[in-house]
Amino acid sequence: MNLDEYRRTARQWLEANTPAAEGVDGAKRFMAGLYDAGYSGITWPKEWGGQGLGQAEERAFAEVAREFSMPTPIFSIGLGMCGPTLVDRGDDEQRARWIRPLLRGEEIWCQLFSEPGAGSDVASLQTRAVRDGEGWIVNGQKVWTTNAQYADWGLILTRTDIDVPKHKGLTMFVVNMRHPGVTVRPLRDMTGRAHFNEIFFDDVHIPDSDRVGEVNDGWSVAVTTLLHERLSISAGVGMSGDNPTSLEALREVVDTDDPLVRDQLVELYIRSKALQLFNQRLGQETRAGIFPGARGSAAKLLLAELTVFQADLAVNLVGPQALLEDDRLAFAVSWAPGMALGGGTNEIMRGIVGDRVLNLPPEPRVDKTVPFKDLKVGTQA
Ligand SMILES: Cc1cc2nc3c(=O)[nH]c(=O)nc-3n(C[C@H](O)[C@H](O)[C@H](O)COP(=O)(O)OP(=O)(O)OC[C@H]3O[C@@H](n4cnc5c(N)ncnc54)[C@H](O)[C@@H]3O)c2cc1C
Repeated sequence: MNLDEYRRTARQWLEANTPAAEGVDGAKRFMAGLYDAGYSGITWPKEWGGQGLGQAEERAFAEVAREFSMPTPIFSIGLGMCGPTLVDRGDDEQRARWIRPLLRGEEIWCQLFSEPGAGSDVASLQTRAVRDGEGWIVNGQKVWTTNAQYADWGLILTRTDIDVPKHKGLTMFVVNMRHPGVTVRPLRDMTGRAHFNEIFFDDVHIPDSDRVGEVNDGWSVAVTTLLHERLSISAGVGMSGDNPTSLEALREVVDTDDPLVRDQLVELYIRSKALQLFNQRLGQETRAGIFPGARGSAAKLLLAELTVFQADLAVNLVGPQALLEDDRLAFAVSWAPGMALGGGTNEIMRGIVGDRVLNLPPEPRVDKTVPFKDLKVGTQA
C-alpha cells in the first residue's frame, strides 16, 4: 500500500472508531481495535506482536492521528517507555509474555523510578529488593508515578546492594501492581486531576524471572528507559491530538490580520517545525542503528520549552478570562509547567546536553566512588 492510501485508510478507521468520551474500559476497547487494525506498534518487531513496518508508515499515521482526540494517554508509559525497554533489554520469555497485551491495551503499565528523596538524582533511590529463595522481596516508596492507579504492571528500579557506589547497586524488575503489598495513593496536581500517585511497597514478592537485565546492572537498563522516555515525550507518543494551544487551534480563535499576532504565531510554527524535524531525524537514525544518546535529552528540553511557550502565548492571545470559560484550555495551560519536570527537569536536560553533546567540562562529582550506605541521601541524610 502506498503512503497516501495508508493515510486514507488510517483516517477512515479513526473517523469510524475514535470514541467521543474516554473511560478506562472505552480506552481499552479503542486500543484493542487500533491494534487489530494494524495501527499500534507500527514499527515494533513482528515476532513480538508489532507490525514490523517502517518509519514512513509510523510518521504517516502520527500525522493523521493528530487530527483526532484518541483516548490513548493512559497507555503512553507502556508504549513510550516500558515496552521499548523490554524489547531492548528483556529476555524472549518476557517479550512474549508482555509486549502483545501492552500494544493491545489489555494491560496498562507504569514506570517506578522517582522517590521522595530521589528525583533528579534517581540513582540515590532507597527502595530495597532483597533476595528471598528463588525471588525477591521489595520494600519502599515511589512517588509521581503516572497512571499507576490504572496499571497492571510497573517497571521498578530498586537497590540491591548498599556496599557499592550508588549506580552500581541497582536492579530493574517488572512488578505486579495488583500484588496485595502494593498500595497506590493518587496525588492531585494543579490541573485538578490525579495524574500521578505515591506508591508503597510492603513485602512485595517478585519472581527472579521478572528481573530485567543482570543483578546490579539496573542503571544501564534505567538509562535505556530514560532515553525512550525522552524520545517518546518529545515525539508525543500516546498523546491526544486535541490541544487547544496548538497553532491550528489558535489560528481559529485569534485575529490573524494583526501583524503582532502573526509574528508570534510564526514563532510557534518555527519552534514546532524545528522540533518535528529534529524528532524525525532522531527516529530515522535510531532505525538505522545510530544511537541518539544524549540528543534525546535535547529533544525533550525543546518540547518542554515549546509547551510552556505555547501555553503562555495562548493565555496572552485569548486572554485570562478564557481560562474560566474553557476547561480544555485551562487544563492545557495548567498542565504545561509539568512538562519541564516529568522525564527530567530542564536544568538536568541542559546539564546532560552540556556534558555529553557539547562536551563541556562535567560538574564535579564527589559521590561516584563512595559506597551507597555512606552517602547522605534520602533518609540517610
Ligand atoms: C507530570 C509528571 C509526571 C511524572 N511521572 C513520573 C513517572 O511516571 N515515574 C517516575 O518515576 N517519576 C515521574 N515524575 C517525577 C519526575 O521524574 C521528577 O519530578 C523529576 O525527575 C525531578 O525530581 P524531583 O521532583 O525530586 O525534583 P528535584 O530533583 O528535587 O529538583 C528540584 C529542583 O532542583 C533542580 N536540580 C536538581 N538537581 C540539579 C542539578 N544537578 N543541576 C541543576 N539543577 C538541579 C531541578 O531542576 C529542580 O528545579 C513525574 C513528574 C511530573 C511533573
